[in-house]
Amino acid sequence: MSEEKTILSIQSHVTHGYVGNKAASFPLQLHGFDVDGVNTVSLSNHSGYPIIRGHRMDLQEYETLMEGMRANNFLPSYRYIITGYINNADIVRSIRDTVKEIRTLREKEGKKLTFFCDPVMGDDGVMYCKQEVLEAYRELIQCADVATPNYYEASLLSGVNVTDMTTALQAADWFHAQGTQNVIIKSFRMKEDPQNLHFLFSTMAAGGKTPQRFTGVVPYHEGRYTGTGDLFAASLLAFSHQHPMEVAVGIAMGVLQDVILATRNEGGDGTSSLMNRELRVTKSVQSLLNPATVAEVKPM
Ligand code: ADP
Ligand code: CA
Ligand code: CA
Repeated sequence: MSEEKTILSIQSHVTHGYVGNKAASFPLQLHGFDVDGVNTVSLSNHSGYPIIRGHRMDLQEYETLMEGMRANNFLPSYRYIITGYINNADIVRSIRDTVKEIRTLREKEGKKLTFFCDPVMGDDGVMYCKQEVLEAYRELIQCADVATPNYYEASLLSGVNVTDMTTALQAADWFHAQGTQNVIIKSFRMKEDPQNLHFLFSTMAAGGKTPQRFTGVVPYHEGRYTGTGDLFAASLLAFSHQHPMEVAVGIAMGVLQDVILATRNEGGDGTSSLMNRELRVTKSVQSLLNPATVAEVKPM
């Protein structure tokens, strides 16, 4: 096997709509990846809707699954791990052990593991996980190769309130200090430029002293979309498999712009119902593979 396109994807499952594994699996499968999903929750819909019903995994259930995977010797087969919504501090801590276990197993075979950690904890000033989950993430982030927080999660984790480029850079430095090589603060709005969303990609070579920084913008579309970060992280993983990370960042930004525009063109503008604003993931096959838009990613 010349290239391993295998992923352990630990995220939420929703019956209706596109967040978590529902937003990530289809794009990754289109790119030819085998996506082995662990569903941390199995819910009727995302938490923006007034009613949610379903099941949340507990530590025992997570460990039982891993036991089966270990017993069948599946664990060393994963080239990538990606994590999203978890909201259980015990499971976040246990994932750290999973990452270490898989990394050790693969190192013995001279193989790499790349861990994409999307620390799903909240958005736009609202924290939707428990404080203990935040603390557990501070530890999980130490074994992440790539972290993709939104600006609010970057603020929660680093303790630096991200409001502009200066503070975004400070927050990124916190991640590097924890040992995370690549950090993407996916979007933040700046007072002087309200029509755009700015992003920051900061990368620090192993053992390096000064990080390399890249930035760019995408047009801001009025309104709030759910699952954008999940689709971004999945797309970033897919494109980084064949491109340098800074190139992958620009293409993944393009995927999001295309998919958000497709969603808006089909009645999902910022004022429409939550149901209408579900990302048009399955209707955007071309965009997922080769987006019409690609964001320019400029060195700073
Ligand atoms: P999260 O969904 O995790 O909160 P972001 O809000 O930063 O993360 O969204 C992830 C990506 O989706 C952004 O980098 C941007 O490309 C795109 N995006 C999200 N919301 C919008 C929006 N309202 N207008 C334009 N792009 C958006
Ligand atoms: Ca957001
Ligand atoms: Ca998110």
